Amino acid sequence: MRLSKSLKKYKIKTPGGKNVTHFKKKRSSYDVCKNCGTKLNRPKLSVKKLKRLPKTKKRPQRPFPELCSKCMREYFKEKVR
Ligand SMILES: [Zn+2]
Repeated sequence: MRLSKSLKKYKIKTPGGKNVTHFKKKRSSYDVCKNCGTKLNRPKLSVKKLKRLPKTKKRPQRPFPELCSKCMREYFKEKVR
């Protein structure tokens, strides 16, 4: 059995009645601010989910959606000066 920290472990029961550990690729569930690296308040959407959403929900509601609100504010402050 290969143990890895980069993969997520999960136990499943096979039809034969055995308990087996399977490995899945870890996925970050949250987007991260590009500047400071804190978690953004919205969950990361998979491509599957994005396809289901209407276009209005995919558009960013404010400028710089990849930054957190704090960094966005700081950015604008520096831009104004
Ligand atoms: Zn930030």
